[in-house]
Amino acid sequence: MQIYITRKIPSAGIDLLKNSGHDVDISEKDGVLTKSELIEELSKKEYDAVLCLLTDKIDGEVFDAAPKAKIFANYAVGYNNIDVDAAKERGVLISNTPGILTDTVAEHTFALLMAIARRVVEADAFTRAGRYDGWAPELFLGTDLRGKTLGILGAGRIGSRVAEIAHSGYEMNVCYYDVKRNKDIEEALGAQFKENPEDVLKESDFVTTHVPLLDSTRHLVNKERLETMKPSAYLVNTSRGPVIDEKALVEALKTGTIKGVALDVFENEPELAPELSDCPNVIITPHIASATEETRGKMSEMAAENIVAALNAEEPPNLVS
Ligand code: NAD
Repeated sequence: MQIYITRKIPSAGIDLLKNSGHDVDISEKDGVLTKSELIEELSKKEYDAVLCLLTDKIDGEVFDAAPKAKIFANYAVGYNNIDVDAAKERGVLISNTPGILTDTVAEHTFALLMAIARRVVEADAFTRAGRYDGWAPELFLGTDLRGKTLGILGAGRIGSRVAEIAHSGYEMNVCYYDVKRNKDIEEALGAQFKENPEDVLKESDFVTTHVPLLDSTRHLVNKERLETMKPSAYLVNTSRGPVIDEKALVEALKTGTIKGVALDVFENEPELAPELSDCPNVIITPHIASATEETRGKMSEMAAENIVAALNAEEPPNLVS
């Protein structure tokens, strides 16, 4: 059968599709296809399945350009880029890549958390600029993690793994807010459930967000909630950019409402909010929390396995709709 992949991905999944007897076309553009480019590509053949990325906006018009496609397999755990209702209306299956990237994203979350707490990026830039003229007692004073409180917004797979690292590695106290109570982390780590996000933000020394992007989580961290945080607190976001109101965040950083922030995702990717990169108390990485050779390879295989199952008229293992 004919499969279209919207951008070159690690080869494991492509090989799996080919070894299953399918023909694979991969976009030749070294970048994100615009919607009209994607529609044009999909209209060239009668594709039976599409492997798409979080940067592709998949809506009714895109589904209609590939009317034979049984499945759109997203190469990500988050699938806010896909109009799931439009897929349902057309009987198109949607799958994602949950679980395999959990450790990798949790590790990146900790890389950011430690880097912002210990001012690693600022100190690196200072040293490279030749400004280091010898050890000094108050040079780049940071903040310890051990014994501090980590607040988690969204204690699903990634949030729970971050909680485990915090508890076992740094003896941090963990509190969390989620629409679903997570008894496992309460029992195993003594994590404290809070009835609302404000209570997490108010009590935490570090806050990290791990919710999916939904209407209910857009601007979950807004101006009013930022104001409830401690001025000594740090915020980390490796979930989706619009979970934080970036304009309010820049203001909070400039006015000292919070001490610092580390972001892997932005509200209007790939654009940064004006002034965000001017703030010294900010670390930014370009949406790479799942980007390890091991994990991106496994994501490629997992997306392909979902396609192979759908084309064999079996239920894809990671069906979201
Ligand atoms: P998950 O579904 O296991 O966990 C999400 C948690 O959020 C669930 O426990 C859910 O109950 C909770 N939640 C949902 N709505 C909520 C709300 N309104 N308020 C509070 N909690 C709410 O998902 P996961 O595998 O842990 O991934 C979480 C998110 O991380 C993904 O949806 C994705 O957007 C993001 N992500 C980002 C990267 C990256 O590269 N930066 C990589 C992987 C995942």
